[in-house]
Amino acid sequence: MPTTLAIVDMQQAFAASMNPKTVIAVGKEIEKAKKRNAGIVLIEYKKVGRTHAVFYEMLDGYENVVRVLKGKNDGSDVLLRAAMKNGFNTRKVRVCGVNTCYCVSETVTGLLNKGAKVEVIKDACHCNCSARSCWKNLQPHFKHSLQDRTLMFL
Ligand SMILES: [Zn+2]
Repeated sequence: MPTTLAIVDMQQAFAASMNPKTVIAVGKEIEKAKKRNAGIVLIEYKKVGRTHAVFYEMLDGYENVVRVLKGKNDGSDVLLRAAMKNGFNTRKVRVCGVNTCYCVSETVTGLLNKGAKVEVIKDACHCNCSARSCWKNLQPHFKHSLQDRTLMFL
């Protein structure tokens, strides 16, 4: 079963989601996921608008996509519930989106705690924090880096 793609909070309300490089990188991930016929889950923070229209346009007519809403940083519960319901892979998840230090990090940690294997696409994540250490929270889990700058967590 192809690895599920999770797109975290790519909503205008989050300034980091407007970074052009990030938008392009997420778009590439969507194209790749469509090619492998993977389940795609758009995770959105409640009440702050939808994921960028450009991504909905890219996904128009694609069957294996679902949108889920959450009211906290960790989107792993809603993500896995939707993946299970729609027959997507719940054991292997590829994660991108914003903000690296908050929703991405907490969702990845939630997934790891629930036993999933996780890949994080570094170039398809972004953060507006000033810490410049966005990946530090995740380092205890970090296993190895793939050629395409994907971080692999097992
Ligand atoms: Zn950060």
